[in-house]
Amino acid sequence: MLSELKEKVYKANIELVKHGLVIFTWGNVSGIDRARGLVVIKPSGVSYDEMKPDDMVVVDLADGHVVEGNLRPSSDTPTHLAIYRAFPEVGGVVHTHSTYATAWAQAGMDIPNIGTTHADYFHDAVPCTADMTAQEVEGDYELETGNVIVKRFAGLNPVHTPGVLVKNHGPFTWGKDPHEAVHNAVVLEQVAKMAYIAYGINPSLTMNPLLIEKHFNRKHGPNAYYGQTKK
Ligand code: 13P
Repeated sequence: MLSELKEKVYKANIELVKHGLVIFTWGNVSGIDRARGLVVIKPSGVSYDEMKPDDMVVVDLADGHVVEGNLRPSSDTPTHLAIYRAFPEVGGVVHTHSTYATAWAQAGMDIPNIGTTHADYFHDAVPCTADMTAQEVEGDYELETGNVIVKRFAGLNPVHTPGVLVKNHGPFTWGKDPHEAVHNAVVLEQVAKMAYIAYGINPSLTMNPLLIEKHFNRKHGPNAYYGQTKK
């Protein structure tokens, strides 16, 4: 079942390793089949070296029940599902503990939009979520992690800013499919690193807001002209 999506999700997980975003069994990627209401996700705690496409686990979008697979799904599955349920445009979700993005998350800081690299991919600051309450941590923790992400996006467009920092934890990114979600995770790590360095050089730096609009819109606006026309 869903062998094509399993292959895509498997490859996207391996891409995380290739791009140096994960070590050991850290991180996870999922992809969704919206028509069937099913999500394919990495198994929990399985080494990337040993993982096979057939190890991907199929779960129900509505309640997270395992529909197919011999292994337990990623521990972060309920967080992925909350993101899919809240943001209907999302087709793939990624979580990593990549160093710079996680450092901003641990510091509890949004990553401000201070350069065109950031603006090419994220319209706004990459937001950091609020502290989780004792009830959230001691309750259905992974689902509540998803809920704090969704809450943080009140007034924000998740397509225009496809990523978040979960406070004291790490980044989640998303995209139209698992591959794009990984791409955004790689970019997020880079912009987190650049912002850290830039603030080190000049703590009172400024960003020209016109450049944010220019760069975001030339790639994503109604009159986007970046790249080649689609065939
Ligand atoms: P899983 O192996 O269960 O996906 O956990 C990895 C991780 O990064 C937890 O935050």
